[in-house]
Amino acid sequence: MPLRETAPKLPPEQYERNFADIAPRMTRRQAVVEAARCLYCFDAPCTHACPTRIDVPAFIKKILTGNLRGSARVILEANILGESCGRVCPTEVLCEGACVMHEKGEQAIEIGRLQRYAVDYVLDNNIHLFHAGASNGKRVACIGSGPASLACAAELAKWGYAVIIFDRNEIPGGLNTYGIAAYKTRAADSLREVELVRQRLDSTHWKRRLPTVAVMSQTAIGEFYLRPVDY
Ligand code: SF4
Repeated sequence: MPLRETAPKLPPEQYERNFADIAPRMTRRQAVVEAARCLYCFDAPCTHACPTRIDVPAFIKKILTGNLRGSARVILEANILGESCGRVCPTEVLCEGACVMHEKGEQAIEIGRLQRYAVDYVLDNNIHLFHAGASNGKRVACIGSGPASLACAAELAKWGYAVIIFDRNEIPGGLNTYGIAAYKTRAADSLREVELVRQRLDSTHWKRRLPTVAVMSQTAIGEFYLRPVDY
């Protein structure tokens, strides 16, 4: 007997209505108009407020000139997970919170949505911007395929390491796939980003049903090796 009854599920149409995208993708016109509001500040407080130091005025300027590929490159060189960060980062207290527009009494530049606009362009058009570096003959395993592992793997690949990401779940992406509210991002968006990293990581592949990062601290890895063997 189940411990509790499973909660009734919403019909798909109602689910889509209730959890609709809270910050929908900008149209080209919206993006250009918003990019034109930016002052391209020399000291760029928005960039300093970004934990990954994305050059915000540089990528916004490229949107204004129609260079979406170049814009996405600026973003992804600093942060390979720029797509999900554009959707889920608390921008109101980070880059947008630091925007000088506040001092003018105006609304901050919508940096998160502009970032998403640029990165969505390269993902939608399957544009490959990065490749793994020349092999250095070394291999690294990353445990878990969440954002930390993906970012780590992408950086290692730049330096020529062959990276294998282990994940116990059937679908990769970790938190971004399983743990974000649907009105911010969907599993399908997370998987697109996983593919973006895989493009850079020729040697990366997925091994299923291994311990997660959360339980890997020796114990879980030990469990993996010590599990009963069927003869
Ligand atoms: S602080 Fe605001 S106005 Fe200045 S560069 Fe950054 S986004 Fe543009």
